[in-house]
Amino acid sequence: MRNGLSADLIARVLGAAPKYTLDELEKKFPPRALPDGAFVTRFAPSPTGFMHLGGLYGALVDCKLARDTGGVFMLRIEDTDTKREVASAVDIIVDSMHRFGLEYNDVPEYGPYYQSQRRDIYHSVAADLLARGLAYPCFLTADDMEQIRANQKAAGFATGIYGEFARDRDLTDDEIMAHLDNGEVPTIRLYSVGDPSKRIFCKDAVRGSIGFPENNEDIVLIKSNDRLPTYHFAHLVDDHFMRTTHVVRGEEWLPSFPLHAQLFRMMGWTPPMYIHTSTIDKIDAETGKQRKLSKRKDPEANVAFFLADGWPTAAVLEYLGNIAASGYEEAKSKGQVSSIWQYPLRVKKIPISGALFDMKKLEWWAREYIATLSVPDLVRCVTDWANEYGNDVQKMQVQNPQYLAAMLGIERDNPKRIRKDFITWAQTLGEVAYFWDTLYTKNTEFEFNRDVLAEFLKTYDASDDKDTWWNKIVAIATAAGVKNGEVAMNLRVAVTGRTNTPDLYSVMQVMGGDMVERRVKEIING
Ligand code: GLU
Repeated sequence: MRNGLSADLIARVLGAAPKYTLDELEKKFPPRALPDGAFVTRFAPSPTGFMHLGGLYGALVDCKLARDTGGVFMLRIEDTDTKREVASAVDIIVDSMHRFGLEYNDVPEYGPYYQSQRRDIYHSVAADLLARGLAYPCFLTADDMEQIRANQKAAGFATGIYGEFARDRDLTDDEIMAHLDNGEVPTIRLYSVGDPSKRIFCKDAVRGSIGFPENNEDIVLIKSNDRLPTYHFAHLVDDHFMRTTHVVRGEEWLPSFPLHAQLFRMMGWTPPMYIHTSTIDKIDAETGKQRKLSKRKDPEANVAFFLADGWPTAAVLEYLGNIAASGYEEAKSKGQVSSIWQYPLRVKKIPISGALFDMKKLEWWAREYIATLSVPDLVRCVTDWANEYGNDVQKMQVQNPQYLAAMLGIERDNPKRIRKDFITWAQTLGEVAYFWDTLYTKNTEFEFNRDVLAEFLKTYDASDDKDTWWNKIVAIATAAGVKNGEVAMNLRVAVTGRTNTPDLYSVMQVMGGDMVERRVKEIING
């Protein structure tokens, strides 16, 4: 600890007198009136213009924990890194949250929820630390720090601003004033009293108590360029005054954990419970090894990929939910629950080692999910997707909702036997493309039996019911001495171009007599 700064000096150092005392802040943001056991969580992304799948996973865990316990789920925009900020990046985050159904229920009383709008609050807490000699203004320039770093490296010391290398940690008031009179704007640094030869224990709700060497670095609390806080300081202040009970964040924050524990201790505040989640991994196609999803290499690392590609957002969430709550899939297959929102997430079971995200497995969740949709819902999802993301062909395909409903409705009337070949909205439109003449392609590989097709046309009547239609096929097969299935297969390939389709009678009914006759004739003649 050093001597605390006077109120006047604090005002000069921070650029203005602090707006609040700590007591005022405590009153302004009182403990929340929530039932016992209610979790207060927050998703706290930095607006980089990119929403990572791992971020979505964390947000789901946050949202689930709050919803499961009747608590509060906040969205906090960590926009203090003005250098990294990208226009419309917040829109991407907010939009993704809505699309994936991760609704937050924060209230204005604990806001604002943009860190860039909370400067007064951070400065008020920084003023308290400055007054208590637990923080100090530091006037080191980038060049100074480079020099310190080079010296440390040359001498084999750990790099950083700490102990004897923290040039300004014990400046006198006069020295501070001289710098200020010189027009210099300081950073505010922590006056660390940590000793790395001692251990500090930090509690993670899943990992248990983890021992770390104490932090001795005088880390930056408030930056000089914009007087905004660093993540370390902002999160301390926000999670305290927003009354966060559980911080869910990626395991990349584990190394900063001792620093955060130290900061909470210095403030005399009870830290929230931390849950450091594992990375979301994949199996690398080249090496066959498990590795973290990479923003650079893997399109699926970006949440926008799933939207543009037409994956049902609910299925992506179901899959991520099953990673966080591994018993979900079993409970669902037993029919005990039908959505991740009905299955309680157990904190202790949240995985802490690399969770695998596998597109094949996602396909399964998507097939299962789409199978639960009613025909009107399916039509709506496909149409909305095509209108927003589709190409011209896909947009054309959703022009006629009745026609689309008829083809998508095939094999969806028996709840026990719903077709499961639809995976994404884009792929669904691909699956039914043969219902349009412009998209149908004649199968040139199949060896057609043109005689049975000619026989079929002689008696075909589009108004036949299914039995009559089938009896005619049987009659043609018998007369030609071939199997019934062979006649049906010839018809199927003739009218759809494919060897694999849902119920052929239904397909032909939806197409209508003209289309069927035209296509069969074309095969016979060609
Ligand atoms: N802004 C931090 C990040 O994007 C948030 C970490 C946290 O949730 O505390 O990683």
